[in-house]
Amino acid sequence: MPKLIQYRNHCIGCGICYELQPEIWRMSKKDGKATLVKGVPKKNVFILPISEEVAYESMATLEACPAKVIKLG
Ligand code: SF4
Repeated sequence: MPKLIQYRNHCIGCGICYELQPEIWRMSKKDGKATLVKGVPKKNVFILPISEEVAYESMATLEACPAKVIKLG
């Protein structure tokens, strides 16, 4: 199963991921960064198992993230 991986520490809070995939991302009111909904923290990253379909949809988000902190695993 594909996974979305976010290096949240380096997120700059631009909100593009949330605009593109509001079903997966939330913007934190606490620190202004994007949060992967139901993402599991592991060391310095958050990980979310996703379907192949969502992985495909996420390609645009990966490319749009200006800080390049979203990866597919
Ligand atoms: S697109 Fe990238 S930098 Fe912008 S809020 Fe989302 S994870 Fe953070």
